[in-house]
Amino acid sequence: MISKWTLTAQSTFVRRKNINTNPDYQRPAVWTKAQKQLLIDSMLREYDIPKMYMHRTGKDTYDVIDGQQRLRTIWEFFSGAFSLAKDADPVDGIEIAGKKYDDLDMLLLDKLNSYNLDFVILNDVSDDEISEMFLRLQNGTTLKAQEKRNAYPGNMRNFIKDLATHPFFVNVVNFQNSRFSHEHVAAQLTLLTMNGDICDIKDRNLNAMYKDNQDFDVNGDVAKKIKRVLNYLLLMFPEKTPELKRYNVVSIYALVKDLLENYAIKGRESELAKWFIDFETMRTIEAEKPEDQQDARLAIYQSKTKDSTDAMDSLRYRHEFLKENLLSTIIDLEPKDTKRNFDEAQRQVIYRRDKGVCQQCGIKCEWNAWQADHIIPWNRGGKTIVSNGQVLCPVCNAAKSDNVL
Ligand SMILES: [Zn+2]
Repeated sequence: MISKWTLTAQSTFVRRKNINTNPDYQRPAVWTKAQKQLLIDSMLREYDIPKMYMHRTGKDTYDVIDGQQRLRTIWEFFSGAFSLAKDADPVDGIEIAGKKYDDLDMLLLDKLNSYNLDFVILNDVSDDEISEMFLRLQNGTTLKAQEKRNAYPGNMRNFIKDLATHPFFVNVVNFQNSRFSHEHVAAQLTLLTMNGDICDIKDRNLNAMYKDNQDFDVNGDVAKKIKRVLNYLLLMFPEKTPELKRYNVVSIYALVKDLLENYAIKGRESELAKWFIDFETMRTIEAEKPEDQQDARLAIYQSKTKDSTDAMDSLRYRHEFLKENLLSTIIDLEPKDTKRNFDEAQRQVIYRRDKGVCQQCGIKCEWNAWQADHIIPWNRGGKTIVSNGQVLCPVCNAAKSDNVL
C-alpha cells in the first residue's frame, strides 16, 4: 500500500502535468513570496525538505496529499515566475540575490535540478483513508477550521461541500468563497436545521457535527428542509444582494426557516425581500444618529451583529428582533393551522357531504380509497376545517400536491 520514491526537483517539473497539486481535500495555495523564496534558498543550501505524500491515481498520475505548496513553488521557480530575495546571502561564494532560475550560475542550477525530493506514495487506498491521513498530517498546523473540517471523511462533509454550490451562495450572497467561507456558513445553516432551534454555531459545534454525522442522510428530511429554505431565499433574492453579508445570511436563513414552518409565505417572496432591504436601510441610517437618539433595542441589535455572531444568545436576540419587525411590517401573514391533518370525524363528514365523489374528476371513491384535501392548501394558510376540506381521488390529489409544492 505504501512505497517510497525519490525524484529530483527537475523530474517533478517534467512530470508536473501528471501531478495534481489541488485535489479537493487540499488547502488552497497561500504561501507568500517570502516563503517561496525561502524554500528555493534552502534547496540551494542543501537543507532538508520534509518528505511529501502523494496518492497514485493511475499508471503515472498522482494527487498530492501533503506538499502542495512546496511542489508548486519549485515549479513556479523553474518557470521563472519569481526571483530570489534581494538580500539573499551568496551560496558557496556565488551571488544569488534577486536572481531568477535562468540567471543562476550553472553550478547552482545543477544543484537545484538534481535536488532529491522524498515522497511517500500511497497505492490502492480509499478517498476516506486519504482524507483521514491528510487530516492527521495537517493537524495542529495553520489550516483554518473549515479547511480542517473538509478533511473529515463522511457524508456531512460531502453534503456541505455540495450545499455551498447552491446558486444562493454562488450568485446571491455578498461575501467571497475565500478560505471556504461559503462552506462554513453552509455548515452553520445545517447545524441550525439539525438542531431545530437557534443554537451555538461555533467552530467546536461544527466540528462535532461533522464528526458525529459521518452517516448523514444526504436525501433525508434535514437535507430537504435546508434546500427548501435556500430555494425560497433564491426566489426572494434572484440576484446579487449587497445586504446579504456573512452574519446576515445565517439570520435571514433562520427567519425564513421559521416562517416556512409556521406561516403561509408561499407567493410572498418579493414582499419579504423588500422588507429585508428596507430593514437594512433603516438600520444603516439609524446607526448614523447620535447614540442617545437611537432606538434602544435596535442599538442592542446593532451590537449583536458585531461580536460573537455565532453565539446562541446573539443569534436568538437577532432572530426575535427581526421576526417581530417583520410581523409588524407585513401584518397579514397567515399562521399555518397547527392542526395539519383532518381527523376521522372530519373525514366522515366531508365524505358524506361530497357523496364520496372526487371533486376534481368526478369518479366515485370507496371509503378506503380517497383523500381529504385542503381546498386552500395548508401551506398557504388553509384551515383544517370541514368547510376547507373536499374529497379527491388519489390521482387528483397527487397532481394537486405537485402543483402547490
Ligand atoms: Zn379525481
